[in-house]
Amino acid sequence: MKTIKFTFLGTGTAMGVPEIGCNCDICQSDAPKDKRLRSSLWVQYGDLSILIDTSPDLRYQCLRENIPHIDSVFITHLHADHIFGLDDLRRYNILHRKSINLYLPYDMEARFRQIYDYTLKPAPKGITVPNLNLNLVDRTPLFFEDLKVTPLPIMHGEDEIRGYLFETPEFRFAYMTDCKEIPDETAELVKDVDVMVLGTIWRNYKNHIKHFDVDEAIEAAQKLSAKKLYLTHFSHFIGKHKDFEKTLSEEFNGWVVPAYDGMCIEA
Ligand SMILES: [Zn+2]
Ligand SMILES: [Zn+2]
Ligand SMILES: [Zn+2]
Repeated sequence: MKTIKFTFLGTGTAMGVPEIGCNCDICQSDAPKDKRLRSSLWVQYGDLSILIDTSPDLRYQCLRENIPHIDSVFITHLHADHIFGLDDLRRYNILHRKSINLYLPYDMEARFRQIYDYTLKPAPKGITVPNLNLNLVDRTPLFFEDLKVTPLPIMHGEDEIRGYLFETPEFRFAYMTDCKEIPDETAELVKDVDVMVLGTIWRNYKNHIKHFDVDEAIEAAQKLSAKKLYLTHFSHFIGKHKDFEKTLSEEFNGWVVPAYDGMCIEA
């Protein structure tokens, strides 16, 4: 049996933790789990190496995790905290002399080209730029041998963005950051998953227009009978990791776990 491994490269919201210039207890904490880079995920399955999103911290994340190569990158949406590290991919083009497959939701192409058109064209002579091979995705699942990846429409406020469902013959894992509502068609696809990852920013603030708060995320995962829930995309308002983990573990007996940078899930 081939194992699949998911590594949280970052678990912070758009401003990361610590926030610049903040003197709160959380931002001043020395605990490594209170340092949160911007959210993204690394998936390894056999030799296959996939990123979900390219956060502004991508360069450091690749160095920290010693990521040797990247075959494919899946994009959830085009907010700065999810894509502004994409230029760092060029290092892998240089190392391996081949292009990287970019999987982009089809409705995001025009906007993507406004920012990153240069990554889809041959590099000007004497200049290095990322070299990406654009694949537009709709709702059709993609197959990488026996790994199935299904794009999941989710609502990030009024914007429809994507999560991704990874399925091996033995394991189902759904990654949905930046979410305020899971539409019915996506709910059908992720029902009973082994692991659900949902983004939240904080607890006890339900009226954010674009993000679940912790209890909304928990309620959504309960409704879909997720076997285990990991939370990500936190701001400093979540408190210290150690305290938050303890509270959740007392309330839910290990069913809900806050992720931290570098955390791995293997199956
Ligand atoms: Zn702070
Ligand atoms: Zn976003
Ligand atoms: Zn975000």
